[in-house]
Amino acid sequence: MTKRALITGITGQDGAYLARFLLDKGYEVFGLHARRATDTFWRLRYLGVENDVTMIEGDLTDLSSLIRAATESQPDEIYNLGSQSFVATSWQQPQLTAQVTGVGVLNMLEAIRIINPKIRFYQASTSELFGKIQDPIQTENTPFYPRSPYGVAKLYGHWITINYRESFDLHASCGILFNHESPLRGIEFVTRKVTDAVARIKQGKQKELRLGNIDAKRDWGFAGDYVDAMWRMLQLDEPDDFVIATGRTTTVRDMCKIAFEHVGLNYEDHVVIDKKFYRPAEVDILIGDPAKAKAKLDWAPTTTLETMITEMVDADMQRVAGEG
Ligand code: NDP
Ligand code: GDP
Repeated sequence: MTKRALITGITGQDGAYLARFLLDKGYEVFGLHARRATDTFWRLRYLGVENDVTMIEGDLTDLSSLIRAATESQPDEIYNLGSQSFVATSWQQPQLTAQVTGVGVLNMLEAIRIINPKIRFYQASTSELFGKIQDPIQTENTPFYPRSPYGVAKLYGHWITINYRESFDLHASCGILFNHESPLRGIEFVTRKVTDAVARIKQGKQKELRLGNIDAKRDWGFAGDYVDAMWRMLQLDEPDDFVIATGRTTTVRDMCKIAFEHVGLNYEDHVVIDKKFYRPAEVDILIGDPAKAKAKLDWAPTTTLETMITEMVDADMQRVAGEG
């Protein structure tokens, strides 16, 4: 029988990749779509799946809309990817972040409890939970220490998922995903901000790139690899939580170097440090150990940082050229 999945955040980076991944597996895919005045379907179009998914209007802060979405789609699996996902914005809109990224998870779990507790649930947890790291390499057993309103909201989402699993025997799993990027990454995140700027500078449309703390280190993977891990979690007999990471960490500075060098430029000639992009509290370094995912999900990353960043630069070179 055809499996059915409902994805919240389907218009985001991961939502689009996951929609394509599940369609390729033969799923019928439904997406919760929060109405916006501007076009948010560009990622689904980019991957050629815009017309293959069924959209249901709703918002994570509106429980009744989630109940309607789950009733209409009758899913076997729900992937909760919807979120106010940008760390810097979470200091500007902390309450909205708490409502969408934190309480939104509770709303989705309540909808499952009401409609059908057999629905399998994936929660998009994050390495931002580790924040001020308590172990040099982070695993599923590393204590959390979030450093932003976003991280704190995600901490609630993480624990309420585990609590509902333990309270109501739900098949609910959390993927603690480290940063993952792609040509579909939002322009405000540092990798895409850099690759877009490299394309503009190379094509004479921009001179400098203003960045904040370029000594921060991240464990960056490819979004296409990471949605596969989400699906694998929901195929397990028992729900569980997993770190999904590459096991390698790189500074923002070295990531810039890769991007600029790909088009024959030196980042030092263009990058300007601007205090405006520093955060009130920083996550200095993240590096995850994906051993449990390897052992239990047979999952491993396939894409190196170099390959991913150069592909992002190539995609942005084309986009910027297309702007005329
Ligand atoms: P994006 O920012 O690209 O996508 C976020 C999605 O959430 C969009 O579809 C957005 O809709 C939707 N959304 C925002 N507000 C609401 C709301 N009130 N109700 C319903 N939907 C809403 O994020 P990613 O795809 O990169 O990330 C997916 C998930 O994984 C997020 O939860 C994120 O926090 C988490 N995560 C991401 C990591 C990463 O490195 N990418 C790392 C770890 C976790 P719209 O397009 O209309 O704004
Ligand atoms: P995050 O890990 O979810 O916060 O992902 P980001 O891509 O937004 O940021 C990754 C790291 O890059 C953080 O440590 C930021 O402080 C750092 N960084 C440095 N300059 C910038 C910038 O101009 N924009 C963003 N988004 N991050 C920056």
